[in-house]
Amino acid sequence: MASMTFGCAAFLSTVMLIVDSPVTLAQVPPDQPAVTVRGQTYTPRSILSRNMGTDEDQTTAFPPHKIAGNVYYVGTRTLSSFLVTTPAGHVLINSTYERNVRTIEKSVTQLGFKFSDIKILLGTHAHGDHQEGDALVKELTGAQVMAMAEDIPALEAIKPNGKTHPIDRMLRDGEAIALGGTTLVAHLTAGHTRGCTTWTMTTQEGAKDLNVVFACSYRSPATVTPAIESELNRTFTVIRSLACDVPLGDHPAQYNMAAKYARVKPGAPNPFIDPANCWVEAEIQEAMLRAQLKLQQGAKP
Ligand SMILES: [Zn+2]
Repeated sequence: MASMTFGCAAFLSTVMLIVDSPVTLAQVPPDQPAVTVRGQTYTPRSILSRNMGTDEDQTTAFPPHKIAGNVYYVGTRTLSSFLVTTPAGHVLINSTYERNVRTIEKSVTQLGFKFSDIKILLGTHAHGDHQEGDALVKELTGAQVMAMAEDIPALEAIKPNGKTHPIDRMLRDGEAIALGGTTLVAHLTAGHTRGCTTWTMTTQEGAKDLNVVFACSYRSPATVTPAIESELNRTFTVIRSLACDVPLGDHPAQYNMAAKYARVKPGAPNPFIDPANCWVEAEIQEAMLRAQLKLQQGAKP
């Protein structure tokens, strides 16, 4: 499976070898650590399969839909792509794999918007399953590609078919991007990658202002170095300080998209407005980090 060689997926075999040192190549390493958060147990394998699904899940469009206000879902079953529409053009967050770009374009069109109206392309983090398609999106739309400074080296290494990764503007933590009355703020939430970016904005539904959080992945890489541990500790504090009514994530399972989508009904409360579950993913990944550190320390001679 070609996709398994990319960032998010690649860590798994490595983490298991690290946490379970006396392993031989012939053995299947155990799936650990396991953590239980809000009554549900998670392991590295269960998180990977929840996030990525099958190859088909990664490339099959999920029905495009409105999330809240001017925020829409245009991604696949397991790789999020979000469209933020404005009267001055649109913002796309996450191009996903290059082979998904035409699928995303179709979803944008199905919602009644023009793909060519995308003016700004943003991303959550420099892994192929989230940002491999940036060059093609830029080619098709002319959008300005903006990225957190700390992720730029990793982004520049993502070159599908030898294409140069476009970067038009380098962002710093806390920087705001305005288009057509919508302002998106970039929050550095490092750990999963050096420049992992959580985006926030306010949207309006009826008379209500809603705080939308497009969360980056908070999963620790295979080996937790002291630098990554301190980045993630900062990240878990930062994200809990954000105003949040509508939690979203770069893999839909991180915010239970499918279950929420099934509850969308005219006249019913919007299921995507879910402040009670804003930080569940952070809780899971923080518990995982602590358990991983314990295993790592135990594995030391
Ligand atoms: Zn990733």
